[in-house]
Parts: sequence; structure tokens; C-alpha cells
Amino acid sequence: MEITSFHPPQRILMGPGPSDISPRVLEAMSRPTIGHLDPEFIRMMDQVKQLLQYAFQTRNDMTFVVSAPGSAGMETAIVNMVEPGDTVIVCVNGVFGGRMQAMVERCGGQPVVVEAPWGRAIEPEKLEAALKAHPEARVVTFVHAETSTGALSDARTLAAIAHQHDCLVIVDAVTSLGGCPLKVDEWELDVVYSGSQKCLSAPPGLAPITFNERAVAHIQNRKTPVQSWFLDVNLVMQYWGGQQRRAYHHTAPINNLYGLHEALVMLKEEGLENAWQRHRENHLRLKTALEAIGLEFFVPEAERIPQLNAVQIPDGVDDAQVRQRLLEEFRLEIGAGLGPMAGKIWRIGLMGYGSNPKNVLYCASALETVLKTFRS
Ligand SMILES: *Cc1c(COP(=O)(O)O)cnc(C)c1O
Repeated sequence: MEITSFHPPQRILMGPGPSDISPRVLEAMSRPTIGHLDPEFIRMMDQVKQLLQYAFQTRNDMTFVVSAPGSAGMETAIVNMVEPGDTVIVCVNGVFGGRMQAMVERCGGQPVVVEAPWGRAIEPEKLEAALKAHPEARVVTFVHAETSTGALSDARTLAAIAHQHDCLVIVDAVTSLGGCPLKVDEWELDVVYSGSQKCLSAPPGLAPITFNERAVAHIQNRKTPVQSWFLDVNLVMQYWGGQQRRAYHHTAPINNLYGLHEALVMLKEEGLENAWQRHRENHLRLKTALEAIGLEFFVPEAERIPQLNAVQIPDGVDDAQVRQRLLEEFRLEIGAGLGPMAGKIWRIGLMGYGSNPKNVLYCASALETVLKTFRS
């Protein structure tokens, strides 16, 4: 077979990420590649930093983009904040909390796990109890919006409790950034990372991250060097840092950063609060439409992530077959359940550019059409 250019099919992406990308962002990415130390490129990087400070609602100077996907944002946070032997309180209510635990272990840390059932938020009382039992802990980790189950935890309250016990927090905001309220400075979140392909609707492969001054001081006081060369923020900041001359660290993913820049410009134009409101409204529209065809949500109402709707797969319905038909007949991608949720839930994303009333109606009627075949 002759191999020629790849032309992906048109899809509507309503899974847990990547989300649909605006033509504006795709067009920005097709602009000419320039050098990663070109003064014009550096000017654009400075703008990305400013735009991210807006998206994160922070003044943190150490705000930049890790040249790798959200998981590398997670690893950057953990590998810099945790030293061998450290006790780390790790909140786990789904796949991504579990991944944080694995990373803490690989850094030689001792995780103390605060568990919540899948589909539920982390209970502040449980975190408090773990902190009382482990006064030696200095770091707490949790996932703000647990994409594997659709549950939103109360980041502000969890951070306040951690601080009362002299701990810093690492917060996974991969799915929350740009999609629901997240206020890094006001909520006093110490290290927060995200990903480009969820509510920012930029291509996958970039991880925005921010560290406040307490976190920077914590890293400066390390007794051992950060064991990852690539993710060591002391080295990365020689490239992303503001004041000094930029030094070569690695070659930035230039065109991908053009895409993120454009996506952040779009967020700024819309206004962060308006974006949060839009995600909320479309979630409510989807809720009404799905409940009308008899589907039920997995997460209790007060703990739902508006941009990631976890719905229960009705009895007698073949999960894989439904998703396959949606993809083939409707060009529509929705997410399957992960880990223990496989076959139990679907995850319908209304993220970023894809969070609009048209997608809500399209998804609900496509699902209704496909589900009818199981009910007759
Ligand atoms: C998607 C996601 C990640 C991982 O991001 P990748 O870009 O896939 O590496 C981490 N945490 C949460 C909550 C996510 O939704």
C-alpha cells in the first residue's frame, strides 16, 4: 500500500479531552516556525505567560508551560515538591489521584492516601484527620476536577485545611482551568498545573503550570537535587524566566505554543467569568436533554463538573457498541469509563470551544437515536 498524506476524519469531540479546536487556533499553528530564541518568539512566550496568569487568576511569576502533556505537569509538580522520605498526603477519588500517588512513590515519598468513593468529592474532614495523624507531612495533593468520574472537589477548603497544618498543596486543574471557577491567588493554591487540550481547546501536548512564592521557597530548600533533569523547574526557568537572558534548555514546541497563545487570546476576549458561565449553562442544557431521554448522572448534583458529564450506562445497553455507532454514524466521540468505571459510565465533555448549545442538542439526539435500538 502506498503511504500518502494523512487526512483525519471530521469528528465532534465530546469526550474527556482532547476537545474540539477552533479554526482560529488551527490556523495560528500553521504559521511559519521561527527560532525558539528569536526575540519575536520570546515576546510571544511572555504573552503566553501573562495570559496564563489571567487564566489561573494569579500574579505568580513562576507561571509557564511544560513542553509535554498534562501528566508531565503533574510530574513536574510532584518531582520538584517531593523529596525521598517525605510524607505526602495524597487525596484519591479516581484515576488521576491514583496517578499522583504512583508519582509520589516513584519520587521516594511516603504517600498517605485520603480516599473518597469514585464519583464523590474529597471530604475535607478526612483530609483534616490525615493531617492530624501525620504532623510530619508538608505537602498535600488533590485533583480539583477528577475527569475519570466527573466529581469536583472544593479546592479552596482543602487548601485552607492543608495550610492550617503547615502543608503546601499541589492541585490538578487539568480539566478545571477555563471551564469552572479556579482562583489560584484568592484560594491560596501553591502549585497548580493544567493541560492544553481540555477547556482551553488547544492541541494536546502542553501543560500550563504555576508556583507561588511559598512553593518556590520549598523547592529552594530541597536537600537533594530534583531527580528529573527535564522537569527541574530551576533549569526550565532559565528559559521561561522573565528577567535574565533566556538560555537554551530544550527546543520549545513552537507551533504548539502559537496554538495555545491563540486559545488563550480567545479566552481573554470572551472573559474568564463568561467562559465559566457558558460551561455551566451548557451543562444544565445537557442535563435537561439527557434526563428527558432517561439517562441519569453518576455524581450527586452539588459535586458535578459542568464540563465533564458522567452519566450511567443504562442496564442492557452495550457500552462499546453505542460509542462505536456514535463515532461511525454521527462522527461523535464521547468518553468511556476508566478503570473500575469501564462499562458503567459515559463521560460527555462540554469543554472549551466544544461547549455550545449545538453540541448539546446533537449529542442528546444522537444518543437518543442509538439507544432506541436497545429499547425496542
Ligand atoms: C487529562 C487529565 C490529566 C492528564 O493529562 P494528559 O494531557 O492526558 O497527560 C491529568 N489530570 C486530569 C484531571 C485530567 O483530566
